[in-house]
Amino acid sequence: MALRDCPVTPKSCVIRAKELAGERRPVLAASGRMTCVFCCLISENSARWIFRGPTVAAFAPLDPLAPGHALVIPTSHYADIFDTPPEVLAETMALVQRLSGTMRTALKAGGVNILSASGPGSEQSVPHLHFHVVPRWADDGFSTWPTEQSQRRMAGDPVIQLANAMAAGHAA
Ligand SMILES: [Zn+2]
Repeated sequence: MALRDCPVTPKSCVIRAKELAGERRPVLAASGRMTCVFCCLISENSARWIFRGPTVAAFAPLDPLAPGHALVIPTSHYADIFDTPPEVLAETMALVQRLSGTMRTALKAGGVNILSASGPGSEQSVPHLHFHVVPRWADDGFSTWPTEQSQRRMAGDPVIQLANAMAAGHAA
């Protein structure tokens, strides 16, 4: 597979994400070509890696929101938080934590924002679980925090519905 088969520009990521919408195992297409952008990066070793381990990795996006902005991913394909095994998720979050600490020590960041999306309606752009780790400084002049509120309205009390479902042992 040629490097050109690994598009990582934001625009092509969005196009790929639309192509892959609904696919749960987008690792190999019928053609044999890698159809998951992040699996493609891992297979081709074509990202700007910050860390590569057997289970988890971190790399720099082409369109960073801030200096040092990184994406942390499991190296095996899991679409989102719903299908990632807890032990893999734990390793992924451990790398998020380690990288966050390194942003403070190496980049003198004051803190970090950790951003992630999973599933339809969440604005997930690439269906391979990933966490954006964005270093923040007091004088960086931007905000990643949402300024709008959901327009979704529900009958009944969603907090009670969640609490009852959790108590009953239902994950969804
Ligand atoms: Zn993948």
